Amino acid sequence: MSLNDLPPLREVIASHDLKARKSLGQNFLLDLNLTGKIARLAGDLAQCDVLEVGPGPGGLTRGLLAQGARRVLAVEKDARCLPALAQIAAACPGRLEVINADALALDPLRHLTPPIRVVANLPYNIGTELLVRWLTPATWPPYWKSLTLMFQREVAERITARPGSKAYGRLALLAGWRTDARIVLGLPPEAFSPPPKVSSAVVHFTALPAPRFPADARVLEQVVAKAFNQRRKMLRSALKGLAPDIEDHLIAAGIKPTQRAETVALEQFCALARIIEKI
Ligand code: SAM
Repeated sequence: MSLNDLPPLREVIASHDLKARKSLGQNFLLDLNLTGKIARLAGDLAQCDVLEVGPGPGGLTRGLLAQGARRVLAVEKDARCLPALAQIAAACPGRLEVINADALALDPLRHLTPPIRVVANLPYNIGTELLVRWLTPATWPPYWKSLTLMFQREVAERITARPGSKAYGRLALLAGWRTDARIVLGLPPEAFSPPPKVSSAVVHFTALPAPRFPADARVLEQVVAKAFNQRRKMLRSALKGLAPDIEDHLIAAGIKPTQRAETVALEQFCALARIIEKI
């Protein structure tokens, strides 16, 4: 059987009794034209291994394989999906490896060969956590070349937000620091089964060869998280406790102690992280 001969996804879901579970963030994409489009937005897959988190019944997995991915590693927590995924693997011998695991607990590098692209319709409950992990390894460039990820629209807007906007915060800073990130596709709730309450969007991240400004990932993340934790406060108060003499460090980084986090540019946050790291 080839990919084109596989049964439609609705049939797969019915025959394997894959009733969507909210606790696993299951909103499935059943339109193969759409999953093919998302796979194309990920870039040229032919020479790449692809990490897919949460393949579910395998709609996006089929798209990735149809777009010529060299190999796909699909990590799925829900064992009910395994028979449906095994059918896809049988249609593409040697190109799909399925691991029944929690993506948060797995080291994908043990199973993949660079160049690697990550493509996923993420479970909403671990999407942000996975993204922050992908953006903050200690060294850069990371093991992946690009990330093409589905988020709730509101999260996608936070990732791509500009300074001064309401959505600007930790995610925009971490994404902007080491990647080019842009929204490449918007999807209405009806694109999924069952439809979620909100719209979704696909964000494509390209890893930059080096971060835009030098900083230690762990320190930068800590500074930014604390700064935006109380985003209405002036930074001299929001960052109290981060280091002694915080007002002096803010000034040395080119930030007014009375500024709020949402008005501070990435370059200044990186300067502050470098100062804090040395203390
Ligand atoms: N990729 C499929 C699609 O587009 O139709 C399913 C996407 S659904 C939004 C998210 C998938 O992630 C579900 O299949 C769910 O079981 C799986 N999942 C949830 N938590 C997970 C985890 N911690 N590790 C791996 N997979 C997980």
